[in-house]
Amino acid sequence: MADTAPPSPRADDLTDEQRRGRACWRCGNATGPLRSDGHAYMATGGTGAPLGFAIVACTSAEEAAR
Ligand SMILES: [Zn+2]
Repeated sequence: MADTAPPSPRADDLTDEQRRGRACWRCGNATGPLRSDGHAYMATGGTGAPLGFAIVACTSAEEAAR
């Protein structure tokens, strides 16, 4: 496993489907196979805590990232 910082997607940049974990956050592929790939966060502004979304990535994107 590479010891590099993982990408930190911003939920602001994701589609609704990606935020709901129905589509790959990297490429938008919704046909899968999809697997859990951490969380994306959306700044709410003001004093609110960031909103977190459980996101998924397709396995092909993971392979390509290696
Ligand atoms: Zn993908």
